[in-house]
Order: sequence, then C-alpha cells, then structure tokens
Amino acid sequence: MTEAFRSTRVFTPEGLAPATLVVENGRIAGVRSWSDPPSAATLRDFGEAVLLPGLVDPHVHINAPGRTEWEGFSTATMAAASGGVTTLVDMPLNCVPETTNVDGLKAKRDEAKGKSWVDWAAWGGVVRGNADALLPLADAGVSGFKCFMIHSGIDGFAWVVEDELRKALALLRGTGLPLLAHAELSGPVDAATKSLIAAGADWRKYSTYLASRPDAAEIEAIALLIRLAEEFETPIHIVHLASAEALPMLAEARSRGVPITVETCTHYLWFAGEEIPDGATEFKCSPPIRGAANREALWIGLEAGVIDMVITDHSPCPATMKRRDEGRFDLAWGGVSSLGLALPVLWTSMKRRGIDIGRLGAWLAAAPAQLAGLAGKKGVLTAGADADIVVFDPDAVWTVTPEHLHFRHKLSPYLGVELQGQVLETWLRGKQVFGVDGFVGSPSGIELVRQ
Ligand SMILES: [Zn+2]
Repeated sequence: MTEAFRSTRVFTPEGLAPATLVVENGRIAGVRSWSDPPSAATLRDFGEAVLLPGLVDPHVHINAPGRTEWEGFSTATMAAASGGVTTLVDMPLNCVPETTNVDGLKAKRDEAKGKSWVDWAAWGGVVRGNADALLPLADAGVSGFKCFMIHSGIDGFAWVVEDELRKALALLRGTGLPLLAHAELSGPVDAATKSLIAAGADWRKYSTYLASRPDAAEIEAIALLIRLAEEFETPIHIVHLASAEALPMLAEARSRGVPITVETCTHYLWFAGEEIPDGATEFKCSPPIRGAANREALWIGLEAGVIDMVITDHSPCPATMKRRDEGRFDLAWGGVSSLGLALPVLWTSMKRRGIDIGRLGAWLAAAPAQLAGLAGKKGVLTAGADADIVVFDPDAVWTVTPEHLHFRHKLSPYLGVELQGQVLETWLRGKQVFGVDGFVGSPSGIELVRQ
C-alpha cells in the first residue's frame, strides 16, 4: 500500500517547505512536490501542521529489567511516543543486571519484548574490570558504550579512571563505536563537598548543591577526554554538558579535528539555578543546572554548533527517593524526569530567542541518530529512511500537568510550566502510535541492533 503524507511545512534536509512524503512498507519511498502525490496513494493531508522526522533521544534511563518500580519499557516508551520521540537509546546502568556484558544485554532484550511503543537501542557499559566484555557487546549490537568518571549513583556500575579509559579506547579503536562519558571528576566535587560540610552548609538550599559540583569537575574531565580522543583517534561523546566554561576548549579541539561530540539537556537550556526553590529536589541532577549566565552561554554554544544535540537524560525514580519532604539535595536521588517534553521545551525557548524552527531537526533528530549509528535510517525525512513522522502544531500553547506525563512517576520540574508547540500525532515506520486522543494500536517498537 502506498500512502502520501503532505503538508505545507515538511522538514526535509532541504529545509521547511511544502512537500509530499511517499510512504511504502514503513519507509519513505520518495519526497515529491506538494501538488504531486502519487495518484494511487492514500492521501493524508496535514494542512499547515509541521511534519518533522521522528525524534531520536540517545540518553534515556529506562531502568529495566530490575528497577521497573522506577520506570519501565512500557511507560518510558509511551512517554517518548507522546512527545514525538520514535527512537531512544537506553543507558546501561540503572537496570539489574547492568548492561556491562552480553548476558545483561540479553536480559534487557527479554524485558523489552512486546512492551516498546517506539524503536530502541542499547548502550553498553564500560566499568572497572569489564574490558573483556566490550568487543562481545559490540558484536551483539550495542550502539556504543557509556562510562562514568565519578560515582554513578549505582554501586554495580563502577566508575573508571584514565588507565581503564585507555584500555577501553584501545579496544574500541577502529570499531566506529563511540565512548560516551559522564564528564565530571571526583576530585573537585569531593573537595567542594568537604568544605561545605565543614562550614555547616544547609543542604536544603539549591545553592549548596550547586557549589558542591563546581565547573572545574567538568572542565578537568573534558580536558582529559579531549586528550584521549585525539590520541586514540576514537570518537568520544560528552553526555549532558552543563558547564559552558568547557565550550572554548571543545570548540578548539573540534576545529583541530578531534573526534569529540557534545550533547546538552533540555533542563540546562530551560532552567536557571537562581530560580530553583530550596528543597525542590525534582531539579537535582548531575552535573547540576547552573546559573542563568551559563544557560545563555550554552545557547550560544548550541547555535554555534559546538554542542551537537539536545537530549532529555530522562532519569526517573520513585517519588520517595526524591525525599521531597526533607528537601535535602545531598540525600535525594539525582535525575530529572522529562521524557516527552523536549520538543515543546526546546521550541518555546527557540521562539523566544528568534531561532529558526529548521534547527529543531538537527538538534533533536539527525545529530543524535548519527551518534547512535542510525544516520539515514532515523531522524531524517528522506528517501530510504524509516517513515517516522511527527505532526507538530508550533503555535498551540498549553501548561504541563500530570495528565500530559506518560512516564511512571509524575514528578517533574516542568509541572506547571507553560509551553508552546504540541505533538498532534506520532507515526512509527508508517503506523500511527500516538494522537491527540491518546495511544493508537499496541506496542510495535523494535530493537535497532547496530551492524
Ligand atoms: Zn543520564
């Protein structure tokens, strides 16, 4: 069956323009002019709604198997579908077992069966002592590897130091798989925390938490990662960059051709540390949300292309673990829940800043697809790609309430925030999975195994 999706605003690699997407067997067979849909095709006319490529979120913590009381494949992927995310890549650490060997990957595959509303892939983990497991994981189809340079919050996912990073990079060299790094070093964090404790700091204050994770922790880690990416000629990806102070160093390295890419989170681009109320632990994440001036500098880095992509780092937990009653930032679990909100959050900010809507596609779809080895297949509306399509109304204004959140625990710093732009429909490989009246059909997401 041939179908034609058309609108006066279709986002193709050539930009936003009237066009018709011809869809056959779940793929885009071709892109034609607006006035020329194939005569045999079933026509779906979306008027003036914006048709975007299905978004790719390469930084999601599903926490399954093993911690399904935190989140799970069903709820996480429903949240994704509701926000136009048709592909996500799951982090290797909060599940039990962790994805640090092939058995862990198999356990995740078993857990996901029949539950995923969108397509998904898995990052493997680099932890202390698992060097022998890396190439088998690569052969088994992970998209790349994630490591921590500081305590991850999960005892079963041990952080690595330079020696272990070197061992991992020597193995990954030539595979084309990226090493993703949580770029904070423990030295500056430990020193800052110690002096805050000695001074009797109040851990209900957001300013105390922010002071405990200084910019220096990110800068020192990123300096090391730049050196290693250059030496090993192996791609390294900085996850959730929070400190804009690292941008000049990253820009300089990239201009020399060092294979290093960078993501930042929607919450670093939206919130500012000065505005976070004391005790509001739903804002706790690491690295922390920094000040308003830092946020503005991150936007400049994003517009300049030093930051490649924007991701959610959706990292939920049961509400009790946020310990909202005590409001102590040192004791609460770190992680912000926001899966499904990235598109309107980013678009609202872009609109206020006068940034062209055309950049959404690169930041939320094409660049993350490339990181995950899915360039040309996901994140782009062009012939040969999967027919993952988001129907987006860029003008609708709405306020985030728990009913809009489809992840398991409805605790998010975005509750009550007014946003512009609404996902009207989400299509996965040519089939509708979400619409304004709710979810359509049943979970049909598949795992994307990296070849
Ligand atoms: Zn994360």
